[in-house]
Amino acid sequence: SFTYNISNLQMKIISHKKKLKKFILGERNLGFVPTMGAIHKGHLSLIKKSIAQCNKTIVSIFVNKPQFNRINDYKKYPRVLKKDISLLKKIGVHYLFLPSHNQIYPDGINKRIKVHPFSKKLCGKYRPHHFESVVDVVDRFIKLIHPKKIYFGEKDMQQLKIIEDFIKKNHSYVKVVACKTIREKNGIALSSRNFLLSFDERMIASKIYKILRMRKNNLIKKSIYITDIKKKIFTLGVNKIDYIEILDINKLIKPYKNKVIYKVFIAYFLGSTRLIDNI
Ligand code: AMP
Repeated sequence: SFTYNISNLQMKIISHKKKLKKFILGERNLGFVPTMGAIHKGHLSLIKKSIAQCNKTIVSIFVNKPQFNRINDYKKYPRVLKKDISLLKKIGVHYLFLPSHNQIYPDGINKRIKVHPFSKKLCGKYRPHHFESVVDVVDRFIKLIHPKKIYFGEKDMQQLKIIEDFIKKNHSYVKVVACKTIREKNGIALSSRNFLLSFDERMIASKIYKILRMRKNNLIKKSIYITDIKKKIFTLGVNKIDYIEILDINKLIKPYKNKVIYKVFIAYFLGSTRLIDNI
């Protein structure tokens, strides 16, 4: 580990488990924001919330290989560590954890991790075992860090719900804090994968957001059908749609609240970049 001291702020950068333990041993009110890096305003909103709610904030950057289904998606995933470090330092993060694969998986992955069957729906249909791998890595991080609060974005709603369920059952002392989706002015949900999009692809993504936004109520009332929306989206130049589904987010995992909140869930490809959103 080493300490950077550009600007006035100090942020401890830690890449070894043992050092991590030493640094955070005495922390009683630690907020934890796990990320895969290529930090953007979506991440920063989670981090700001943690800084406001906790004594100290730890951010991790770890591109978790087991959760990728396509090797090219893993290889092409944006990695801009220097820029990330300066953003995190500026915003006042106390600890940055940057472990290697071997630090996290000294004995390989956990093949017996149990996650809620909702993990088989939506993205789970198209990315087998993706959510098991996500939960596995979150479980490992929680055991190393023992945070009081852990922050996740609603942009990845299915992930959020599955992790909430897992943490409630396995690490009940950790509070999961859900954070609203941050969007660009044109409606696109911020995402590290947006760095891979061309200008034209961004325009298409913005149009898709606007279509779903405008048609959401008609879709709920069934005055238009998902097949019609799909046709429209294909004409914009999208080559593949994994799914569009309308679901009540309070019924995704039981026990649920009575209040009905519908969201349109979408996963689609622009070129070889797969994007997800819920509106
Ligand atoms: P990632 O680095 O993509 O794994 O994301 C790390 C965390 O940031 C996850 O909890 C995401 O849900 C959250 N996140 C990513 N994009 C956004 C966004 N546009 N708005 C809010 N949270 C986000």
